[in-house]
Amino acid sequence: MGGFGSGEWRSYVKTTVEACHSLDVNRWAREGILRVGEHRSGWWAWFADAEKSEQTASIGYEIDARDSERPWYRIYYTVRNTWTEEKREVDETAPLTVTYLPSGGTRFWFTCPNCGRRVGKIYLPPGKYYFRCRKCHDLTYTSCRESHKYDRMVYRFFPELVLKFGRYFSPGKIWKMATGK
Ligand SMILES: [Zn+2]
Repeated sequence: MGGFGSGEWRSYVKTTVEACHSLDVNRWAREGILRVGEHRSGWWAWFADAEKSEQTASIGYEIDARDSERPWYRIYYTVRNTWTEEKREVDETAPLTVTYLPSGGTRFWFTCPNCGRRVGKIYLPPGKYYFRCRKCHDLTYTSCRESHKYDRMVYRFFPELVLKFGRYFSPGKIWKMATGK
């Protein structure tokens, strides 16, 4: 089948946030990925099941919060459209914001790489290539069922596009491609 081309998909129905891969800055803070004064890198993965036996997608991340005035995050990954077989390498860096709570704690925010809004979550909808804020992707909520037990992958509903990563490239190779080193 063909005819859809390699452009981003157009949808007549608003995509829901539940159908997206999402990155949650608060969760990253809870899991120790985001810490003031630290520089970290690693992999963030999505799984098809609660036991985390089947990994469906992953991205590389780099967080630099050594300078608490100017922290930033970087995400890099490959999106493969299984319909057109087009692969796209994405590597984006954008600022983080740190706010200080009255209790003395800190709170991190992503900056949407597109509009610059300070947000807690960024989303990658099916058929798209970039993580953006909810407004930029024009996303809606279907219901109140946002209690994910695990980061459920959506390829059951959208088999056309999956984030493919380790199956095609070793992390070292991707790192080389991403950094040019
Ligand atoms: Zn945005």
